[in-house]
Amino acid sequence: MEQVRNDVRNIAIIAHVDHGKTTLVDQLLRQSGTFRENQVIQERVMDSNDLERERGITILSKNTAVRYKDTKINIIDTPGHADFGGEVERVLKMVNGVVLVVDAFEGPMPQTKFVLKKALELELPVISCINKVDRPGARPEKVMDEVLDLFIELDADEEQLECPFVYASAKNGIASLDMHKLGDNMEPLFETILEHIPAPKGNFDGPFQVLISTIDYDNYIGRIGVGKVERGSIKTNQEAIMVNEQNPELHKKVKITKLYEFEGLNRMEVDQAEVGSIVAIAGIEGIHIGDTVCNAEHPEALPFVKISQPTIAMTFSVNDSPFAGQEGKFVTSRQLRDRLFRELQTDVSIKIEETDSPDAFKVSGRGELHLSILIETMRREGYEFQVSKPEVLFEIIDGKKNEPMEIVTIDVPEEFMGTVIEKLGKRKAELINMTQSKGGYSRLEFSIPARGLIGYASEFMTDTKGNGILNTIFDGYAPYKGEIPTRSQGSLIAYETGESIAYGLFNAQERGTLFIGAGVKVYEGMIVGENARLGDIEVNVCKRKQLTNVRASGSDDALKLSPPKVLSLEQALEFIEEDELVEITPENTRIRKKILD
Ligand code: GDP
Repeated sequence: MEQVRNDVRNIAIIAHVDHGKTTLVDQLLRQSGTFRENQVIQERVMDSNDLERERGITILSKNTAVRYKDTKINIIDTPGHADFGGEVERVLKMVNGVVLVVDAFEGPMPQTKFVLKKALELELPVISCINKVDRPGARPEKVMDEVLDLFIELDADEEQLECPFVYASAKNGIASLDMHKLGDNMEPLFETILEHIPAPKGNFDGPFQVLISTIDYDNYIGRIGVGKVERGSIKTNQEAIMVNEQNPELHKKVKITKLYEFEGLNRMEVDQAEVGSIVAIAGIEGIHIGDTVCNAEHPEALPFVKISQPTIAMTFSVNDSPFAGQEGKFVTSRQLRDRLFRELQTDVSIKIEETDSPDAFKVSGRGELHLSILIETMRREGYEFQVSKPEVLFEIIDGKKNEPMEIVTIDVPEEFMGTVIEKLGKRKAELINMTQSKGGYSRLEFSIPARGLIGYASEFMTDTKGNGILNTIFDGYAPYKGEIPTRSQGSLIAYETGESIAYGLFNAQERGTLFIGAGVKVYEGMIVGENARLGDIEVNVCKRKQLTNVRASGSDDALKLSPPKVLSLEQALEFIEEDELVEITPENTRIRKKILD
């Protein structure tokens, strides 16, 4: 019989980076009594990954649970605008509503559109939380209009347009339904969640089913499947069967030994969980996204959102350049191998394969950005390695070559539209849709072979002076369309500071360390490029008075210019076309304020 779990709410939280999602969840946690007074929150679980913050995207979804009165509220973080394998949809399918957090000064940002649109399509109710109303210059009224405009643009239905607005200063732990009068605590938000987000419901008595939607990994307990109980009640020490709708071969007997629910930022062991609960199951070897863990007598698989196939591969290998061993502490093939295989535990859309060489591994993923995030994460963890150029994974069927296709969605100010259409046209993209959106932005949708996107992200960033937003979604395979012209090796970037010019070469298609001519003086605040990474122009604000240990690594082109050597502009131009000279300004570059030294 279908019953309602009134003691539970499952919500997802959507926010543009820095709009206060973490602060808000921290406050809900504090006020839910999860934390004792004066206890310092050491872990801000919702955003443990620095890199996500810098890139403005969240990759991992995390679970938190808070309690308000008699209700447990499960809060699931949503990945940001980039979706590497259907994760957004899988997360949203676990919940009955979303909270959209918007900065009262900045207003809604195009990056959140992707996730919000998915939520609206799934007919989830949305609570808009206009945060930072304490901020000087906050304009909650205007921002509320902008949010409603965005809903209209994204085809929200009538009910969704009636959504409640809550005004908050997460920093001060206060919220209100009245933008002019803030309350004393977060209760208005708690109450709104209870009132507007439906409680999960389902069949209490039927044979249990849990659909695994995400995978966590814990060093002590290993692989953990996280998902919602879709029917019945799951208990520990019970025989169960694991099945999978898209993999009929899977029919595995398992035993539920460790079952958890979320409590605050932690997992708490429980003996039993009912329909509507979000649970974590450990101890099942090989548990995978999309698996249904179910009653042993009723092995019925639930449908799930497909995991997209990898489209791009790169070879990661031990650094054998003359400068090896200077950048990282993990340099051996063993270390590289272990780290890469560990990635498989949590990232379902990545594939790792051995190669003929024990020092090299083929890593396949969902596009260039996906792999570049892995590369950057590993470099920060202290791994030193080389990567090859990205290569597209074709599909060969009956001797015919099919190439992976992507749908690219671009939001861009009108003035840059022409350039984007022209550049993508050269890369064999077809414009399939074009709509006008608010605030001078247009949305363009293209169908493009995955190959055509290689190296495009950095070009796009430059072309749109950092104002464009680019999203890609895998769109199946299509017959091969012939060669796509690629750019020459790289870009020369230059920046003038009064007396001297710093310049360097980096390869847009391979990761090479961007270096500047040795001897060039670097002043505080001056922008130089170092550690350029795949498909990106990256600059660091450098404090060091003079850059001494300037060296190149990575691409052959970069090594040709190996240091220490002062390059003249003419010399550098041997490697690059003059029209590829890009001046780095704060407007066309995302500046990372990483202080060297
Ligand atoms: P997230 O990236 O969405 O998780 O954002 P954070 O919660 O980390 O907040 C980003 C920044 O905004 C931090 O410096 C916070 O202190 C600040 N912040 C968050 N909420 C508020 C608020 O209500 N008022 C003000 N003035 N600042 C806030």
